[in-house]
Amino acid sequence: MTELSIIHVDMDAFFTSVEQRDHPQYRNKPVVVGGDPKGRGVVSTASYEARKFGVRSAMSCRQAAELCPNIIFLPVDMEKYKRISKEIHSIFRNYTSAIEPISIDEAFLQLDVGNPVDIGESIKKEIYNRLGLTASVGVSYNKFIAKLASDMEKPNGFTVITRDEAKKILPELPIRKIWGVGEKTERYLNNIGIFTVNDLLQYDHEFLMRNWGRRAYELIQLCRGIDHSAVQTDQETKSMGEETTLEEDTKDLEILKEYLREFSVALGRRMAGRDIKCRTITIKVKYNDFKSITRSITLPLPTGSSRIIYQHSRDMLVNRVPLLKPVRLIGVQVSNLIYPDEPIQISFI
Ligand SMILES: [Mg+2]
Repeated sequence: MTELSIIHVDMDAFFTSVEQRDHPQYRNKPVVVGGDPKGRGVVSTASYEARKFGVRSAMSCRQAAELCPNIIFLPVDMEKYKRISKEIHSIFRNYTSAIEPISIDEAFLQLDVGNPVDIGESIKKEIYNRLGLTASVGVSYNKFIAKLASDMEKPNGFTVITRDEAKKILPELPIRKIWGVGEKTERYLNNIGIFTVNDLLQYDHEFLMRNWGRRAYELIQLCRGIDHSAVQTDQETKSMGEETTLEEDTKDLEILKEYLREFSVALGRRMAGRDIKCRTITIKVKYNDFKSITRSITLPLPTGSSRIIYQHSRDMLVNRVPLLKPVRLIGVQVSNLIYPDEPIQISFI
């Protein structure tokens, strides 16, 4: 049995690729899905032609139009993307039942039999032949490295990283490439002189652990190429959450609301990818004295809507969370998950 057993599949510029496939007049043109021609809203996906102008997802459409005056804005057709996502999953299921969808266009697969390199290639080919769309595929010995691999030769990439290769590749990488290192963490690490994975590996780990605890430990492990997280199929996922430690502790309701909005959008997307709905929404607030509180609401009807998740989490924050002390961490979690094809139980409360 080979050490390689994880495949990460990531569709290339998924939403725009679908629209360019269905509307030949948009092919080879800078296209954005999301927002409208008046420049309202946010870019969901940018085609590779648009990316050449610096247009990125999550950017405001106004900014996208400034960077690329000829850009074409297309509406989001989530129902269509979900249908295609299901077809992609039916291809995966020919090879394994251990599939962890992480968003509408991305999934991890765990293989117990067969040659993962051959299977990765077949999946990529089959997606293209059946759906006319390209995917980037990474094959490796754990989830983190497989995801790193699929990102290395995007678009239309196919990358295998063995354990030995990972040891060579990792140290050179910018620290941003490590899972969970966002803009803020990157800035913090840069400020203490850490720019690459190697910088972190050479750094005083005790110092990092003292300041960050478990999170530092996980970061160090990832930098060593160690990731024991298992591929979690839908049936095993009980909840999904998004949270962040704030750059600066705050009591500012507007700032906190903005985080809740961001998390709600992220959760809505993650649920859409797996066609999951939730019934319970929980917000978590940790104060600067490390005491934390949670507030929950269970809805009479399940939802997958970012807007509804945001409304409820905002209401809980405003009405049920005292802001007497500055907040250092905020998060939203959805649970009581309802999977597709599961009968929906309506409760009358
Ligand atoms: Mg993608």
